[in-house]
Amino acid sequence: MIQTANNVTQVEEAGTVFITHTVLLWNSKAYEKTPYLQPVYYFNRLNTHLLSMGEFLNNEQLITGDNHQLMFLRNKLPVLTCQPHVVGSTTFWLNLMIESVQSLLAKTRMVYATDYSIWHQHMGHPSDDILRKLPEMVKGASKLITIPMAKKPCEACAKGKMPSHSFPLLVLRAMKPFQIVHLDLKDIIKRSFNEYYYVLTILDDFTSPTWSFNLKKKSDTIIHAWQFVAYIKNQQNASIGTWCFDGGTEFLNDAFKTMLCDNGILSETSVPYMHQQNGHAERLNCTIMDKVQSMCFRACLPDTMWKFPWDHMIHVYNHTPIHRLKWQTPYEALRSNKPDVSHLRVFGCGAYVFLSEDVRANKLSPKSETIVYLGQPAGYKRFCFYHITTWHIFISATTVFDETFFPHCLDGKQ
Ligand SMILES: [Zn+2]
Repeated sequence: MIQTANNVTQVEEAGTVFITHTVLLWNSKAYEKTPYLQPVYYFNRLNTHLLSMGEFLNNEQLITGDNHQLMFLRNKLPVLTCQPHVVGSTTFWLNLMIESVQSLLAKTRMVYATDYSIWHQHMGHPSDDILRKLPEMVKGASKLITIPMAKKPCEACAKGKMPSHSFPLLVLRAMKPFQIVHLDLKDIIKRSFNEYYYVLTILDDFTSPTWSFNLKKKSDTIIHAWQFVAYIKNQQNASIGTWCFDGGTEFLNDAFKTMLCDNGILSETSVPYMHQQNGHAERLNCTIMDKVQSMCFRACLPDTMWKFPWDHMIHVYNHTPIHRLKWQTPYEALRSNKPDVSHLRVFGCGAYVFLSEDVRANKLSPKSETIVYLGQPAGYKRFCFYHITTWHIFISATTVFDETFFPHCLDGKQ
């Protein structure tokens, strides 16, 4: 139900509408924009579209103007302009075209232009030095990223960088790819909704790319270790020289020792319970875990969904310039070509995608609904999404993102 000036009216549907609209600036310049209107209510017996100024103001947007034109600003940028219906009228008119999801997918993949804050979030909250190097070291990053002189404090950064992790690194350093490989098994404590309790992280010392596997029990470590050895042989045409790991029982057992012997791999074990000696993988795991907790918190997702930000952050890490590699990304260090980062989006943001019948809540549900972006799944060039109503997790290639909207948060904002 909604209260209008005269009475209370039954709302039939509520949702989001994308529009294409020409914004007229005061200096007679104009540009086309595709903003969205939200919430949009549908009333069965209403034959006129009405725009509520109060709703705009409630959403922290600004309205300015005079009796010739009203201008609506979002984040200080003009998004809509309205003119009087006829000269002298106090009713203002908005010229627009309502977009279908199909036409949006064909036209654009992003609702908002990117800026420093968006790229800071795309890259998993890195330092400004990394963002400065980004356009030079990867493909698809905006060349216009400007580091602001005065920045709004980033809550996720503050939360993620609070604990100080000091892990003295082993003196042993590799001289070629896969000569030394670090392994670390992290106990997540909080079970993921799909029953995972552990993450096995494998990091190449020389080129720094990282692979990560979700495990239901510690004893699954050996299965993934075998698979990794096969992957390196077949895909990288290389063999592993030495594996470094801590004294955990998942590594110090007869089956694991036999696997190492069968593949001619040496091992370097840190003192039991002195995890710090296996510094590279351990430090990376702690950094990723901090960011995972921050990302869940900022997107209002429960801790039990840690698997998704974890996989996403490993993907982002492999695409991030690293000082130790002379600002190359781990991706380039391994493959000798620069990665494309144009596909990265803000984790947990909203998206609009065409939904097939099996994903929709029921056959009568709209074909396009708001869904949550869950990052980049390992091994896919597509995006992972979560349908709030049906709890359905699915992968899709084409969608429209709104990186300022967080559907899982009560007010849609971070
Ligand atoms: Zn940050």
